[in-house]
Amino acid sequence: MKYEKFKNHEIKRSCTEHFDDYRKYKTYLENDFKNRCCYCNMPSNLLTISYHIDHFVPQKVFKGKNDSLLTEYDNLMLACPKCNLSKGDKYKGDIDNSTKIENELFYNPVEVDYNDIFFRNEMGGIDSEDEKGREMIKILKLYRPIHKLAWLIERLENLLHSLEQEADKETDPDKKKILEEAAGKVARECVKKSKLFRAVYNGKQFEEIEYQK
Ligand SMILES: [Zn+2]
Repeated sequence: MKYEKFKNHEIKRSCTEHFDDYRKYKTYLENDFKNRCCYCNMPSNLLTISYHIDHFVPQKVFKGKNDSLLTEYDNLMLACPKCNLSKGDKYKGDIDNSTKIENELFYNPVEVDYNDIFFRNEMGGIDSEDEKGREMIKILKLYRPIHKLAWLIERLENLLHSLEQEADKETDPDKKKILEEAAGKVARECVKKSKLFRAVYNGKQFEEIEYQK
């Protein structure tokens, strides 16, 4: 069941410079991709580790055939470490005869609006009614529970933000206090869930995660 749209932002490439080292595009990628993984939409501020630069057509595929793809901005994507590792060297296409930057296994996240392919289901999971979209979910392991947890944290953060705004506007001291207390509770829950998220993302087993009351 379609419960919520997949993402709320657009990715637009703005870099007109050319660098010989693809790592130098990182700041442009972070800005253009709004600091989110282009595949799973996870915001980078949830993690304490830096996001990766993914080559849409993988290095192993174009090496010796179309080496310009190493530093071509259109072939670079901002991806979270898990998506980047799951994607790896996976590729389908005709690199010898193709002049376009394409990898038939994946929809290009800049050219295709992922809201047309993916959605959040009633459990908060990433879902698709599209055949290739479903394959992408398998390849990139977008079915992992961490993606539901990340979605839940963002919802909590949005709730916190609106409670804080309501509290700011409230002139009745008693009502203001209630709103501030509610915001405080949600804020503490955000911190707990974010800690849990980072521990799970970084591969810790549940037993190793410090129990939080
Ligand atoms: Zn990702």
